[in-house]
Amino acid sequence: MADWCQMWEALGLNLEAHDQLLNALPPIYQEVYLDQENRPEKMDYFDLVVTEIHGLRIKELQDIKSNGGKIVGTFCVYVPEEIVLAAGGTCIGLCGGVDVGADEAEKVLPRNICPLIKSFMGFKLSRICPYFESCDVVVGETTCDGKKKAFEVLSDFTNVYVMETPQRKEESDRTLWFSEVKRFKEMIEDLTGNKITEEGLMEAIRKVNNKRKALQRLAELRKADPPPISGKDALLIEQIAFYDDVERFTQKVNELCDELEERVKQGVGVVPKGTTRIVVSGTPMAIPNWKVPHIIETSGAVIVAEELCTGLRYFQDLTPEANGSVEAMLKNIAERHIGIDCAVYTPNTERAEKVARLFREYGAHGVVHYVLSFCDPYAVESYQIEKVAKKENIPLLKIETDYSQEDVGQLKTRVEAFLEMLKG
Ligand code: SF4
Ligand code: SF4
Repeated sequence: MADWCQMWEALGLNLEAHDQLLNALPPIYQEVYLDQENRPEKMDYFDLVVTEIHGLRIKELQDIKSNGGKIVGTFCVYVPEEIVLAAGGTCIGLCGGVDVGADEAEKVLPRNICPLIKSFMGFKLSRICPYFESCDVVVGETTCDGKKKAFEVLSDFTNVYVMETPQRKEESDRTLWFSEVKRFKEMIEDLTGNKITEEGLMEAIRKVNNKRKALQRLAELRKADPPPISGKDALLIEQIAFYDDVERFTQKVNELCDELEERVKQGVGVVPKGTTRIVVSGTPMAIPNWKVPHIIETSGAVIVAEELCTGLRYFQDLTPEANGSVEAMLKNIAERHIGIDCAVYTPNTERAEKVARLFREYGAHGVVHYVLSFCDPYAVESYQIEKVAKKENIPLLKIETDYSQEDVGQLKTRVEAFLEMLKG
């Protein structure tokens, strides 16, 4: 790795705390990723991205900023990245998947709050995240109560803009969300100094659609038995989708899919044919939160789909590529987003039905419902998932956990018992 210290210093990072974070990553990555057997060769690009997670990509962001570009940080798949791209900006996902910085976060947040919220607050307050420090604006949303209130606190420490996301999917909610998307477009135009044109917006929609199509292609290939790639590797790619350059990422995912197609043709899998297949559903898993997938895949099963925002919820639907006015395209963007079945909606019956459909489509043997501690929307919605699972005879394991490693042994025991039951 190149010496990026000067760059980190210029960004105002707390170098000592940042070193601790960076030093912790390589051994974990070695164990969780590099020690896997029979990985596709084209994973080398994604390994490089992780190795350079605070290096090369941050340098790219600084170069973009030196040339007048603006960086927009986000925490939710509802924030329309197409609009940021159309104005010449760059979108970066800021959700944190690690509890470094939790002590700082607990100075301004209650202890018992979702680890994802605590993580991003901790990153900001401890000054250990170069992505955060590169942002010209961070965009929050009113999805869940914890995030909504945390953005009020965060606005004391950085430039925060909040989008009002609806709670229901009625006509009045669609009208509200459409007006929020238009207000967001105006903010982005002011920030970048660039007016969004029809051509620019159409081009941005195509680019983001292409990224989603590449991820859909990857998802389809995992239906094969044996699957040509591990669930952990697929999750890693879905996590990287939120902060890599859109076009390069799309190309690299497609190159990987070319290799995976060959593997499928030749019957080459990452695990033996007939290995127990699991669909994971629930709260997003932000990088480097690989705890539960690692437990599942080192207990003799393979994950074949993620019903998560770091998964299908992000890429399952495309924005229509119909030419028209900017207003018409914004409407299409807003409608695609309101179709996302996040647990913050009420009612949200389509999500439980989708989990059952994924279970069948991906030839799964069981579903693991994963909830981050203190995430009320997903914890309460596990009732709906359980109801559908019972009705459709889908074996279900419910897991609630946080970012600590303390419960790994206990979780492993439960996962192993569940997989044993599936074999029986
Ligand atoms: S789970 Fe809901 S609030 Fe969280 S990123 Fe996904 S859509 Fe946004
Ligand atoms: S995981 Fe749940 S509580 Fe945490 S930010 Fe997402 S929706 Fe909110």
